[in-house]
Amino acid sequence: MNVIIFGPPGSGKGTQSKLLVDRLGFTHLSTGDALRNAVAQRTRHGKEAQAIMERGELVPDVLVTEILADLIGMFRNETDSFLFDGYPRTLVQVEQFDRLCEEYHLTQPKVVNLDVDPTRLIARISGRRLCSKCKATYNVHFAAPAREGICDQCGSALIQRPDDTTETVTERLRVYESISRPVLEAYRTRGWLSVLDGTGRTETVYERILQAIGLSATAGEPEAGGAP
Ligand code: AMP
Repeated sequence: MNVIIFGPPGSGKGTQSKLLVDRLGFTHLSTGDALRNAVAQRTRHGKEAQAIMERGELVPDVLVTEILADLIGMFRNETDSFLFDGYPRTLVQVEQFDRLCEEYHLTQPKVVNLDVDPTRLIARISGRRLCSKCKATYNVHFAAPAREGICDQCGSALIQRPDDTTETVTERLRVYESISRPVLEAYRTRGWLSVLDGTGRTETVYERILQAIGLSATAGEPEAGGAP
């Protein structure tokens, strides 16, 4: 099964993806992570993307689709369940993704959108801290580590993503509303979309995702969230 996890910055895609990967064995393909790696390694793609990402804008469709195609090619023989996180984010990418699915014989993805009130997102993102080593996530406002700046799980230093500052977040949310929200509408029209309430406890949101993709352990319960 292939799943696209969708939602504005700060909606919890990263946290939920980690659970889906750890517990269900999805292969996580995050274009944001791939781009951050490319920036850290100063590859050709990374050099092109760095300043754009720091401004909170979207990197060009061609570049990000090339990165995703490479990742799919790398893992295609090892898995039949991809979790796409952060892609597609534009209507052009929706078309490019259709072509990739055809080329790599991927089954039609289920699309889940984590719906979170925009007023909560700025606090969620600007307070977000990541472990530099194990990638565990914290929030200085709602889920602070026991020792400030130190990961509870592995003791490494916590970092803030350079694009998680209040100024950049505002631009990322604007970009999401104007450019990425139409992607949702495209998938809604195709009947592939489930909209979920992305607020509440991490485990509660996780259970809603399982229900939406038909993998819930809670048999007989109605589908969570809005209409598919
Ligand atoms: P994310 O970690 O998904 O929030 O992505 C971080 C940044 O990477 C975004 O703000 C964009 O600059 C860039 N990015 C990630 N995925 C895409 C995509 N599908 N299309 C364009 N830019 C992307």
